Amino acid sequence: MSPGGATVASVLGVDLGGTWLRVAAFSADGQMGQPLRVPTPSAAGPEAVVDAVCELARQAAGGARPRLVIGVPGPVDPHQGVVHGAPNLPGWREVPLRQLIERRLGWECRVEHDAGLAALGEHRRGAGRGSTNFAYVTVSTGIGAGLILDRRLYRGSQGTAGEFGHMVVEPDGPRCRCGNRGCLEAVASGTAIAEMAGRSSGAEVSAAAAAGDPEAQAVLDRAAGHLGRAIGGLLNLLNLDAVALGGGVFNAGPRFWESMVEAVAEGSFPGPRRHALLAPAELRGDAGLLGAFELAQEEWERPSD
Ligand SMILES: [Zn+2]
Repeated sequence: MSPGGATVASVLGVDLGGTWLRVAAFSADGQMGQPLRVPTPSAAGPEAVVDAVCELARQAAGGARPRLVIGVPGPVDPHQGVVHGAPNLPGWREVPLRQLIERRLGWECRVEHDAGLAALGEHRRGAGRGSTNFAYVTVSTGIGAGLILDRRLYRGSQGTAGEFGHMVVEPDGPRCRCGNRGCLEAVASGTAIAEMAGRSSGAEVSAAAAAGDPEAQAVLDRAAGHLGRAIGGLLNLLNLDAVALGGGVFNAGPRFWESMVEAVAEGSFPGPRRHALLAPAELRGDAGLLGAFELAQEEWERPSD
């Protein structure tokens, strides 16, 4: 793989996932080169993962000294660059990621929650373009969200905002991996859909439903209902212009989307519901990388914007 032809890296976007680590080089005008990708050595712990990030970043930089923005799959302190925790990265508790990377590479670095970066990417270059108040909701193995309020990434007081998947929607529902019961993620994520239907994956449940299996369809309808009502609550709370929805669960077909939209109506007032545009996310797997570039622009190029 090559880091994208003649791109002189001005910014590196890093997408640190539990399964894959990806790094993309951006030119100063925001053109993204072909991302480099390696499996994340998650099981080996934070030090090994940091080593892998630095190695791939050096390759992608091609001799330049870019600034680096890294998205991690969990809440962070964006000011200190400390990762509070990440469910898919074993051993990550209060890891000073920014400091570890800056020491090894000698480049400036920023650390953000990946859902926040994806929201920024979709807001600047995808389904949220032109909106003032926007949410990006992702529903795959887990459920998360990133919020753009007054056109800026909203992180909350401690950097933990956006945990949309851990709103309790069924107090007596199944245990969530966070420890609580009946979180949205425990009843509507791809993982939960597969478990409730007794199948190996959400995609298998969708296929069974499409083939006419009533149990699989009931599980999908229930998940779509929970998701829609929760999004309705988000609209009541924040009066958003647009919500972009991404993640593998939306491949379940048009009935899933329609059931979800009906449930949004059950969970929201007519005014904010009619105002908000619900749309599929546009940037797919690249939203976080593109958001990393956009964050770099705000941090270093036009910080007072
Ligand atoms: Zn939870």
